[in-house]
Amino acid sequence: MTFSLPKLPYSVDALEPYISGSTLIYHHGKHHAAYVDKLNGLVDGSPLADRTLEELILEVKDDPDNVAIFNNAAQAWNHAFYWNCMTPNGGGRPGKELGERIAKDFQGFDNFRSQFVGAASGQFGSGWAWLVLDDGQLRITATSNAGTPIAQGQHALLTCDVWEHAYYLDYQNRRGDYVEMFLEKLVNWPFVERQLVEAERQAAAA
Ligand code: FE
Repeated sequence: MTFSLPKLPYSVDALEPYISGSTLIYHHGKHHAAYVDKLNGLVDGSPLADRTLEELILEVKDDPDNVAIFNNAAQAWNHAFYWNCMTPNGGGRPGKELGERIAKDFQGFDNFRSQFVGAASGQFGSGWAWLVLDDGQLRITATSNAGTPIAQGQHALLTCDVWEHAYYLDYQNRRGDYVEMFLEKLVNWPFVERQLVEAERQAAAA
């Protein structure tokens, strides 16, 4: 198998009561696993099977003949990233350095928060809300379906999955409540800060 399903960075019930074990069993074990399995089926025996997910996404992103490969590769990457964006006992405010950077680029943490909730709640249908580093600036974006900042040349720092499969068992149609909970209780801010440090290192080296 070329691509494999990464293990969750915590046990399936570790995010309870905010995200249930049932949600994670289906979301990771069925949805994420299916993207990886479909991708393996699509690239099996082709030179594309040797790429990393990031390389594959960049290679096929504008190719109308490889939309299925893009969708499954991007979803495989987005989900692996999303699991790392959460941690038990996470959420609340970021540490000092990241907190100061967010306050500067968004004119305050509350503005960051309301923009992120707005992007996540306002995404029509399935998709993702993101904090990205784009041309040296922190920005909030949303992508639909399998869209990923990698394809836009942006560095992903934080994401919230707003496909219904991410929250429907626990929050039904209340996407806004799920997003508020995600920020309040689950965000792995040290992980986000490491992404920013790495993104700035890459940008400086480029
Ligand atoms: Fe998902």
